[in-house]
Amino acid sequence: MNNPELPAYATGSPEGNALWRGQGAAPLVGFGATPQESFGVKMGFGKIVKVTEGGLAEELGLSAGDRILAVNDVTVRDLIEFSFMFADDEIDMLVEHEDGERELISFDKGYDEEIGAEFESAVDAIMPCKNHCVFCFVDMIAPNMRKSLSVKDDDFRLSFLYGNFITLTNMTDADYKRIEKYHLSPLYVSVQAINPEVRTKLLRTPRAANIIKDLERLENAGVSYHTQIVLCKGINDGEELERTIRELYERRPNVLSIAVVPVGVTKYRKDKFPLEQFDKDSAKKVIEDMEVWQEKFRNEFGETFLYLGDEFYITAEQEIPQEDYYDGYPQLENGIGLTRKFIRDFEKKLRDNRFHPSKFSYSKPYTIDVICGVSAGKFLKDLAKRAMGELKNLTVNVIPVTNGFFGERVNVSGLLTGKDILTALKNRPNESDGIIIPCAALRSGEEVFLDDYSLNELRAEFPNAKIEAVKNGGKFFKALQNFIKYKYIDNADAMRLNNAGYI
Ligand code: SF4
Repeated sequence: MNNPELPAYATGSPEGNALWRGQGAAPLVGFGATPQESFGVKMGFGKIVKVTEGGLAEELGLSAGDRILAVNDVTVRDLIEFSFMFADDEIDMLVEHEDGERELISFDKGYDEEIGAEFESAVDAIMPCKNHCVFCFVDMIAPNMRKSLSVKDDDFRLSFLYGNFITLTNMTDADYKRIEKYHLSPLYVSVQAINPEVRTKLLRTPRAANIIKDLERLENAGVSYHTQIVLCKGINDGEELERTIRELYERRPNVLSIAVVPVGVTKYRKDKFPLEQFDKDSAKKVIEDMEVWQEKFRNEFGETFLYLGDEFYITAEQEIPQEDYYDGYPQLENGIGLTRKFIRDFEKKLRDNRFHPSKFSYSKPYTIDVICGVSAGKFLKDLAKRAMGELKNLTVNVIPVTNGFFGERVNVSGLLTGKDILTALKNRPNESDGIIIPCAALRSGEEVFLDDYSLNELRAEFPNAKIEAVKNGGKFFKALQNFIKYKYIDNADAMRLNNAGYI
């Protein structure tokens, strides 16, 4: 699953949203739609929330509130079906206007001409997950949190559109036929373990045992897929991990990549199934073991192919791999390589700054406090130091915040709550001129933290400081470079990047 309000590493599904969207989104993004608004709600597809000025929808007299029901006699259930039907050049479109009146609109269009509208949701209703994974992060969130955080999706359409990971345990023959018909490739599959017994133990559904057959069905449909393994000590690690990697490697080129991410646990987990988090030594051991495979893959076909979650390197206190390790970041939405990309984007802006060194220095002393999760503290401090070396009069204090809400073992910035941030800021020895918070901690598309505390409430607590969010390394440098003028702009990209965002 991939609840976009939760971080990739948190669920075990890559949630990937993150955005930096999934490759699958590419052909369809022009239509605009968000998956999360339909979480848990059977809302139907086709409701327009916005028409583009000068676009086709506007020309046809459509407006927000209208719903497209059918295209060329086919009832459209999701963005995929709509895009497929709308690719024709002669269109009969059945529309239900906001007042309930239905109208059949017939028109000719260019083959690749888009509708020029944004839909309320990408699908009619999200396919729910039917598993009971021992590591499910959704089962570990605090009680009384907003309902949308508890939605467990396992929807192949969202996998194609947004890079959400799916388990294939809820798939029907009709679903596989749709995948084949629309050639929904690539998809993102949470494999966890190729051994049927181990996978069943992890997903706690008998259907999980069919993984090899399920992968074969995708392959027979001509579909490629990225894979993920949420690594749980003593269950799917060691020899089981070796077997899973070997068998996935043998399924190349259908398998496009493998990501291994460590299991995460919050203090709200009630499940009796024992789960142990990785510590420095065990994370180091995973890195060493995987390096053998990575070297083999690089020698054999020039790609790392098997990528480890950033958390392994951070936990092992090892340097994050260099840019070429990531081969263009095929699993960025899964959080793989976010740290390196953040550093890379920061360094690029830093280099650009050297062409105009005087332009951006502060005319008088200016202090910025940077809030982050504990795991991001070290590398953000390194970057802050480099920025201070370039920008006159700037002082940057990085403040790693312990997660009191989910428990201190949860150390990512994306799961910091507004109240924990507030406490950390109140405990500072000195106030600052500016405060940077991670946009990953804000709810998708809104300036609200996971605990419903808003950015504006935080701002009201510190009226003398400017508070803005930052979502990537480039923006981090820009914010440090000229915080007086910097403004966080929340947009769709930020929303989908949310899981991943800094850091
Ligand atoms: S139980 Fe469902 S939502 Fe939770 S991790 Fe497993 S597949 Fe994802």
